Amino acid sequence: MSDLTADAVATEHPGASPVGGNPAAPGGGRTVAAAVPRSLVDRLATGVTATAEPSVVETVAPLTGERLAGLPQSTPADVEVAFQLARRAQTAWAALPVRRRAAVLLRFHDLLLKRQDEALDLVQAETGKARLHAFEEVLAVATAARHYGRAAQGYLKDRRRGGALPVLTHTVEARRPKGVIGHISPWNYPLELCVGDLLPAFVAGNAVVNKPDTQTALTGLWARELLIEAGLPADLWQVVIGDGPVIGPAVVEHADYVSFTGSTRTGREVAQRAAARLVGASLELGGKNAMLVLADADLDAAAAGAVRACFSSAGQLCISIERLLVHRSVADRFLERFVARTRALRLGGGLAYGADMGSLVSARQLETTTRHVEEAVKAGATVLTGGRARPDLGPYFYEPTVLDGVTPEMAVCGEETFGPVVSVYRFDTEEEAVAAANSTPYGLNSSVWTRDLRRGRAVAARLRTGTVNVNEAYAAAYGSVAAPMGGMGDSGLGRRHGAEGILRFTEAQTIATQRMMPIAPSFGLDDKQFAAVLTGGLRALRALRFK
Ligand code: NAD
Repeated sequence: MSDLTADAVATEHPGASPVGGNPAAPGGGRTVAAAVPRSLVDRLATGVTATAEPSVVETVAPLTGERLAGLPQSTPADVEVAFQLARRAQTAWAALPVRRRAAVLLRFHDLLLKRQDEALDLVQAETGKARLHAFEEVLAVATAARHYGRAAQGYLKDRRRGGALPVLTHTVEARRPKGVIGHISPWNYPLELCVGDLLPAFVAGNAVVNKPDTQTALTGLWARELLIEAGLPADLWQVVIGDGPVIGPAVVEHADYVSFTGSTRTGREVAQRAAARLVGASLELGGKNAMLVLADADLDAAAAGAVRACFSSAGQLCISIERLLVHRSVADRFLERFVARTRALRLGGGLAYGADMGSLVSARQLETTTRHVEEAVKAGATVLTGGRARPDLGPYFYEPTVLDGVTPEMAVCGEETFGPVVSVYRFDTEEEAVAAANSTPYGLNSSVWTRDLRRGRAVAARLRTGTVNVNEAYAAAYGSVAAPMGGMGDSGLGRRHGAEGILRFTEAQTIATQRMMPIAPSFGLDDKQFAAVLTGGLRALRALRFK
């Protein structure tokens, strides 16, 4: 599919001299040790449910490789205790009017905006991402807090429904909290995917036992403190920390509902465990997201949008773009712009604004990224820019990388890299572009660029992804918190945001009150007469277009 002929685009190869590579952002800000002092770690660690003499697990700051925190590890027995405490707290919380619970979210919104620098320091220290990308998390969480703080009463209120017998049956659909939610979250967006996803669960009247990824647990623990300051009863949010394959299943074992964000592989396992217990689960999983640049797209805007979409959080964003599908007639001009912008991105790790891209989170992410690029190059792909690690900046830095000439047998073509690597493909017809976009088992996010908005939305409707952005790549749909967000196919089950994002944390309960006569032969009618009367009634309701 791809046959780069763009003379305009100079190519670089891995291992080439760093000259011409992405510049380092000017240093600045405080050191990780100053921003996350021992006293802060010790205070936050008291929020973990763990026995008196827990074993301690160490984390490192990806930006520098220095020791970040020692955190107590929970055991499966601690998970049981966490559920007991949460269950006890949930009863009183659920008895409060929704209005009172929603007020906690709105106070949390204000506190978060006021104290955002503390959150940004922690997110950067734990993930290594650039401060601007950490701010995207603050933005997303504040938006969710405002939305559910304002809209929860509407989502959760009792609703009159048509009764079995018009007038005679009074029927109400009510929403009850599930109870205690088991929430398992990954490391890539530790604020958003931890507290952001929990806000609708709390306002719906639930308690939560949360297992964050150990690497990013401090951020969630900090958010918990802030939510308690905003009025959340302390026991309502329990945090357990530990090895995923041990503590994760223990959480699923006790939960009344499971909310999981992570890889498709782990998601399948979580779903099986939840299914065996007959509890529901929402699964927000991986993706291999495509961006389509149609022939009439604004190429400058598309190139700028692609840079944001491919390299935000160094590509460790579930809705980031890893496949660029470009109409052949504009491919060279688009690539010229896109590659130039990518080369200009400043890499850096200061705890201050200024860098355009930060570090990968771990040796594992660096290994996958390096392997995908090296294998592709060995099999004939071309590196248009990037393609190498940058140990001069920090242990896990990797340059934003654009690949061309990628073919289906290369892992980078179909597997999620979850790093700053994007492959370019060309297409001739819309049909071909839609088929290519839909060609992976995933279905999380996609993007269409065109000056013809009607056409953009028509193409969007043909893409099998839970969100599609027209003339944006991910932020428009993700930021529309009143509308659902989630994956089709291997990208998951269920949705966050909007009505689905809160109703998943509730059970529907129908309360029907029968008045004056039973739904059975009465008033001296025998069975046959009763059946005849009801048959007439059914015909009348159909004729009256009764719903
Ligand atoms: P992961 O599946 O390895 O881990 C996610 C969480 O599950 C962690 O807390 C981990 O400790 C825990 N876990 C590990 N094994 C478990 C088990 N057997 N049972 C229960 N829990 C277990 O994923 P990751 O590498 O941390 O995260 C990256 C992945 O998450 C990517 O695939 C990315 O696309 C996906 N993701 C999806 C979304 C979305 O909204 N769709 C958002 C962010 C990340």
